[in-house]
Amino acid sequence: MPTSDVTAPAPDPAWLEVALAEARTGLAGGGIPIGAALIGPDGTVLGRGHNRRVQDDDPSAHGETAAFRDAGRQRDYRATTMVTTLSPCWYCSGLVRQFGIGAVLIGEARTFGGGHDWLAEHGVRVTVLDDPRCVALMEEFVAARPELWDEDVGVAPGGRVGRAGGRGGVELPPPR
Ligand SMILES: [Zn+2]
Repeated sequence: MPTSDVTAPAPDPAWLEVALAEARTGLAGGGIPIGAALIGPDGTVLGRGHNRRVQDDDPSAHGETAAFRDAGRQRDYRATTMVTTLSPCWYCSGLVRQFGIGAVLIGEARTFGGGHDWLAEHGVRVTVLDDPRCVALMEEFVAARPELWDEDVGVAPGGRVGRAGGRGGVELPPPR
């Protein structure tokens, strides 16, 4: 557990609305519907963004990294919360630990299980809302664009999990 006396506040489920709006914006733009926001200790939205793999031709532009970059330089991340519509991949889970973000609020971990258990084991305050809107958004997207989802989670053509990807090497549910 963290020894720091600075901790993130209990997350407000309403913060998810910002991330969900970002996910929907991403979908409307032809992209992958994953949105995120970085929230300050007083509930201020420090940054927000969505996955831009398609829009920017950039596989490193995840929702969480977009929100993180949008927030600019922050002096201290311990009392901030990363809000994301989907369980964060290893890359974004690594970002949370690299910068010492204190809490993660997750819309759902049903369609994809990333690194949230690992984060919790290392003292990050993790909350999974299991929001049906987030589940539906991903289920509909995966059904409509299975090849794009495979690309995002690092499943190479033919079904092999690519070395670089695998959102945490987690076995993915079969496309629905
Ligand atoms: Zn990610």
